[in-house]
Amino acid sequence: MVIGAGVVGLSSAYYLRKAGFDVTVVEQGDLTSNCSSGNAGMLVPSHFVPLAAPGMISKGIRWMFNSRSPFYVKPALNPELISWGLKFWKHASEKHVAHSAIPLRDLHLFSKSLYEELAAIPGMDFGLEKKGILMLFKKESTAEEEIALAKKAQEIGLDAVVLTAEETQLLEPGTRLDILGAVHYRCDGHLSPSRLVQQLAKWLEQNDVKIKTHCPVEHFDIAQGRIRAVIAGATRFEADTVVMTGGAWLPALARRAGLNVPLMPGKGYSFMAEATHAIQHPALLLEAKVAMTPMDGQIRFGGTMEIAPIQHQIHPKRIEGIVQAIPDYYPDYKLAVPPKEAIWHGFRPCSPDGLPYIGRSRKLDNLLIAGGHGMMGVSLAPASGKLIAELASGDALSVPIDAFAPERF
Ligand SMILES: Cc1cc2nc3c(=O)[nH]c(=O)nc-3n(C[C@H](O)[C@H](O)[C@H](O)COP(=O)(O)OP(=O)(O)OC[C@H]3O[C@@H](n4cnc5c(N)ncnc54)[C@H](O)[C@@H]3O)c2cc1C
Repeated sequence: MVIGAGVVGLSSAYYLRKAGFDVTVVEQGDLTSNCSSGNAGMLVPSHFVPLAAPGMISKGIRWMFNSRSPFYVKPALNPELISWGLKFWKHASEKHVAHSAIPLRDLHLFSKSLYEELAAIPGMDFGLEKKGILMLFKKESTAEEEIALAKKAQEIGLDAVVLTAEETQLLEPGTRLDILGAVHYRCDGHLSPSRLVQQLAKWLEQNDVKIKTHCPVEHFDIAQGRIRAVIAGATRFEADTVVMTGGAWLPALARRAGLNVPLMPGKGYSFMAEATHAIQHPALLLEAKVAMTPMDGQIRFGGTMEIAPIQHQIHPKRIEGIVQAIPDYYPDYKLAVPPKEAIWHGFRPCSPDGLPYIGRSRKLDNLLIAGGHGMMGVSLAPASGKLIAELASGDALSVPIDAFAPERF
């Protein structure tokens, strides 16, 4: 039984089914109620530094006072937020970054290899591209930081090259760039996340996996250190193994099973724009923290990270912040602020140390947990799903998961 039909839940169901399990997926909403469809679709081995890293606290505090800023923690006397903030602060250290780099790199690279396998399955066309991602910068100070990071990436074997503005322009002949330079992470890739979600769901249904939508899990029947049943409304689901995903809702779910799996939602926005000028590569506009991905014949722009409890309000100033940043990097792209109906929002499940939760519960024998992937859930979904299936089957693990223990807090 898999709880949650986001990309992590669907990937888990896929690999469990491939391993021979009978699988049911339960979802509180439908296949669009997740964070997994409207995101930037980037596959990012380049993100080997977790969100909890030195410098993030001071940047966060500076940006809190700018309504157009890309990163925002809504100050509130909310015990979950305070506890999350303290844990984040404790982990924002060089030591944590150094400990996380190799486990994250291995998980991303494993996931990318699984995406290559998935894309080769007939009918699974989710637009996988392996052109890498450009990290575009305009300021000297960003260049310094980004080039140092690229060196670390090269040291751990990732394919990253530092480019001048002219070299970057050669990669993008269809549109003008106004930048100081870039790092091209050739190890990265991109895809269309909504097509991925739809096609995974279709494959599951064609392969006898039941996906039950509008079925919110409310309780667990627990006895002798095991989940006997998952209860959603009047329905009682009995399962040998329960996989808890749940995205930004994971802490609430985990609490119902008596577990503490902390994370905060990190709200972000995206919208589609016409590809008036051909853009070849996805890019991160570093100073503005805006993501840009060519997708399904259009361009998807996305950004902002508002750390706050789940609320669905759209803040126009943050959308303006994204729109205004685009022509600073791509002078040919002067866009109007899209209407509210055209804006997608989703909640990144942000763990306090920036690492996902993947593993078996220590307290409940038959419970596996996969969540907290923050800004990297698409990138890490196949690897997470495959590891969940390996744990369920008792097989050897493809990559070590010690760093991702679900009950580490
Ligand atoms: C603007 C933006 C851009 C992003 N860009 C990228 C990117 O380029 N690359 C990348 O890798 N990641 C990106 N992300 C992050 C990525 O979208 C998430 O990490 C990922 O979607 C999380 O997947 P998930 O399956 O864990 O959670 P979700 O997709 O949120 O799915 C969880 C599901 O569980 C369901 N659920 C919750 N509680 C219950 C319950 N009690 N009962 C039943 N169902 C329940 C929810 O309804 C939901 O459908 C981006 C995010 C944003 C906001």
